[in-house]
Amino acid sequence: MSHIEQTLVVLKPDSVGRSLIWEIVSRFERAGLHIIGMKMVRPSMDFLKDHYEGIGKLWTRKWDAILENACEMMRKMPLVALVIEWVEAIDYVRKMVGTTEPKAAAPGTIRGDYAHLSYGYVDSSDDIYFFNLVHASADADEAGQEIKLWFTEDELFSEDKPTHSTFTR
Ligand code: ADP
Repeated sequence: MSHIEQTLVVLKPDSVGRSLIWEIVSRFERAGLHIIGMKMVRPSMDFLKDHYEGIGKLWTRKWDAILENACEMMRKMPLVALVIEWVEAIDYVRKMVGTTEPKAAAPGTIRGDYAHLSYGYVDSSDDIYFFNLVHASADADEAGQEIKLWFTEDELFSEDKPTHSTFTR
């Protein structure tokens, strides 16, 4: 077993709108993970429903208003989608991202360092989207399906990672 995994990360509208793209992407690179695909996109509502319900089962796990809120929020700005690869990348990226509710996310995680909203605060208002900066695939099954949904094979460059021979003539 190689332990090399690929996972999907999406920088949500609050990351892009707050100009945190570089700051967040650089955390993954600093941790030694490899970015093998990256693009800016503005998916349709149908695409986002495929992502959150077709694959993620958000409505099934929670309820309709949450699915609607999550998909609408994802249409507020263009998004940056990444495929990240390296040893046990799926769990490691989730650890770096932190728990879903920013208020509960540990300091040092992306959600813990750059956001602070609570479920209670968002639930108390009809006007506030649940911003938590990043999406990251939850497990290997989700990662496989999500990468297929967001990227074509020729947008991924796994085999082009630099090796010693890349820099020799
Ligand atoms: P995660 O993104 O940490 O994997 P989930 O898959 O449970 O978490 O939820 C997907 C997304 O749906 C969350 O990142 C968030 O944007 C939104 N969401 C989840 N729970 C709520 C909630 N209670 N209220 C509003 N939005 C929510």
